[in-house]
Amino acid sequence: MIRCGFCGHEFPEEEGIRGCGRCGKTCRSVRCPKCFYENPPEPKVLKALKGILKKDGKTR
Ligand SMILES: [Zn+2]
Ligand SMILES: [Zn+2]
Repeated sequence: MIRCGFCGHEFPEEEGIRGCGRCGKTCRSVRCPKCFYENPPEPKVLKALKGILKKDGKTR
């Protein structure tokens, strides 16, 4: 799941719009289907960290 950094909308990666069409190369950013904000790809380390926090139940 990706959480849009602009509107906070959560969407599965496959639902996002890939590529901004401006880079001229394979863009790894995923656009929010709601507001079209270009979310930078999430580093794997950060994802793993989030998973640990969620398991701990101490998020927020
Ligand atoms: Zn959004
Ligand atoms: Zn791009």
